[in-house]
Amino acid sequence: MTIKPLIAGNWKMNGLTADAIALAAGLAGKTKAGVMTADMLVCPPFVHLSAVAGALAGTPVMLGAQDCHAAISGAHTGDVSAAMLRDLGCGHCIVGHSERRADHGETDAVVRDKAAAALEAGLVAVICVGETLAQRDAGTTLGVVENQLRGSVPEGADAANTVIAYEPVWAIGTGLTPTLEQIAEVHDHMRSVLDGLVAESVSVRLLYGGSVNPGNAKEILALDNVNGGLVGGASLKVDDFWKILESAV
Ligand code: PEP
Repeated sequence: MTIKPLIAGNWKMNGLTADAIALAAGLAGKTKAGVMTADMLVCPPFVHLSAVAGALAGTPVMLGAQDCHAAISGAHTGDVSAAMLRDLGCGHCIVGHSERRADHGETDAVVRDKAAAALEAGLVAVICVGETLAQRDAGTTLGVVENQLRGSVPEGADAANTVIAYEPVWAIGTGLTPTLEQIAEVHDHMRSVLDGLVAESVSVRLLYGGSVNPGNAKEILALDNVNGGLVGGASLKVDDFWKILESAV
């Protein structure tokens, strides 16, 4: 089964409007110069989505958001609905990132409802899962990731509307990465858990995230059940992000 890789950038809470436009324009320029070996997605902060949509117009770089609310509309001060994101030009929405799970107390049930709202609005949900260092040290990684998948993937998920990102919490923004064997073990397990949980499970994109950089991307992205990457820090630098894209085959 050949799955076209997806390289997704999570810009988190970084940059002002001019920075976001410059980053998007830099990527837009690269798309004109070279052949893209993978699909590219960028997920800027909510407030920069319109500006980035403008800078990426006419390019193949896709736009996504970092979160959405589970409700369609209503009294949810400060929140943003999936339909609003779609309206701005987003095609994807990250849900369940470990920083949201930690900072906002998002449980698997909340993540599942957000993912369901994303699908309902016509967005692709990028559902994040991953163990803490304590869980890895306790030898419970596979069980933790399996439970998160079972709890966070909504009904109706399939290969076209859902992407799964495995992001060990201890590898995010730390410069630490699991060994290739550890990444392969989790991704192989996720693939088997998804069988029966989502339609067309063999075609669901499984991304690895956690300190991916131009130096380690090639070997990580070459693993069998790794179909792309979710990149934080390195997605804020045009050349680094592009090199990661070029590492995907
Ligand atoms: C992330 O936040 O999704 C991430 C993977 O960050 P980093 O690449 O900086 O570790």
